[in-house]
Amino acid sequence: MYLPIPFIVFGFAFGACIGSFLNVCIWRIPNGLSVVAPPSHCPKCQYQIRFHENIPIISWFVLRGRCSKCRTQISPRYVVVEAITAAIFAAAWWRVWDMQWPPTLLLSVSYLAATSIAVFQIDRKHFIIPNIFTFTGLAVATVCALIFPETHLYERGDTIVYHAYSSVSRAIDLGGYSPRKLALIDVGLGMLAGGGVLVVFRELGKRLCGRYELTTAEPQTVTIDAHGLAVGDAPMTPWPALLKRRTDKAVISGKIRKAGLPGAIDVPADKTVHIRAGRHCVRIDGVEYRIEDLPSITIASSRVILPREVLGMGDVKLMAMIGAFLGPAGAILILAVSSLLGTIAGALVGIWSVLHHRPAPFQAPLPYGSFISLTVLAYIFFGYEAIMLLQR
Ligand SMILES: [Zn+2]
Repeated sequence: MYLPIPFIVFGFAFGACIGSFLNVCIWRIPNGLSVVAPPSHCPKCQYQIRFHENIPIISWFVLRGRCSKCRTQISPRYVVVEAITAAIFAAAWWRVWDMQWPPTLLLSVSYLAATSIAVFQIDRKHFIIPNIFTFTGLAVATVCALIFPETHLYERGDTIVYHAYSSVSRAIDLGGYSPRKLALIDVGLGMLAGGGVLVVFRELGKRLCGRYELTTAEPQTVTIDAHGLAVGDAPMTPWPALLKRRTDKAVISGKIRKAGLPGAIDVPADKTVHIRAGRHCVRIDGVEYRIEDLPSITIASSRVILPREVLGMGDVKLMAMIGAFLGPAGAILILAVSSLLGTIAGALVGIWSVLHHRPAPFQAPLPYGSFISLTVLAYIFFGYEAIMLLQR
C-alpha cells in the first residue's frame, strides 16, 4: 500500500483549520451569533486571541489549555473537535486518493465531513440543525455537479457510468444528454430520495404517533401562561416549541387551582375544566382567550395531551442535502442505516429510563440528525463497498 504522506499531512492540517472554524460554528450558530465577528476572544476577560495563539491543536498545548492573559482554563473540547476533524480529513483525503476517485471529489467529501461533525454536535446538544449548513450544502452540491460532473459520473465510450461514490454504478446510454445534465439529474434524484422519503416518514409519524398522553393517578400541577406550558417541576416549554403546526393542540383536563388575573378566568375552583390551547387562542370550557392575553393559570390535572413530532424539518433538509451530494442510492443507504441506529439508541434510552424509574414527562426527543451525521462519516469510508455489495 502506497501512502502519499505529504498529501495526508496536508489533509490533516487543513482539517485542523476547518475544525477550529467548526468550534466557532458549534458555539455561535445555535446562539444566533455571527461566525465572523467578533474575532475569537477569551470568554472571561474578553482578551482577543492573537493569530499565533490561534493555531489549531498546537496552541492549546503550548498555552497548556489556558488563556494567555487571565489564565482561565479553556475547555479541552476545542482541541478535541480540532483533532477529530483533522484525523477524519486526513483519512477521507487518503480514501479519495486510494480509491483513485476524481480529485474534485475532495471538495464534496470535505464539505460532507465538516458538516457532519458540526451537525453531530449541534443536534446532540440543541436538537436543531441550522439551515445555514443544509442550504449552503445544497448550493455547493449543485455547483459541484455543474462544474465537476465527474464527481457524479464518468464517460466510457458512448455510455455514462454513474460513479459508485454518488450513485448506483450502472452504465446507461448517453442518449444525447450531456454529463452535466446527467449529474444534475443525480442531484435532483438524490434530493428527492433523501428529503422526499423523510417527508413521508415525518407525515406518517405525525399520523401514527403525533400526540402523547400524560395520565397520572394523582393530579399533577400544570401551569400555562402567555408564554408556554409547564408540567410538574419541568421547565416551561414555550408555545412555539410545543405547537409546531397550525393544527397542533395541547389539551389539559383538571381543576383550576390559581388564576393570575382575578376575574379573568371565572371558573369555580372545584369544577373540572377542559382547556384546549392552539397556536393563537386558548379555549377554557368553551370560552376563548387570545394566547397573548392569557394570565398565569395553575391546574391540578391528571390528563394532559400534547402534540409530538417524530422528525423535524431540519432532518428532512439535512437528508435532501446529503442526497444532492451522494445521489439516490447513497441517500437511501444512509437513511436505512441511520434510522436503524436511531431505533437501537431509542430502545436503549427507553430501557435505561425504565431501569432508572425515570420516565421523562416530555418524551426525550432523539437527535436523529446526529445519527445521520455519524452514518455519513461511515459512508465516506465504507459506502462504495456497501453499495457494490448490495448491487450484486
Ligand atoms: Zn482570558
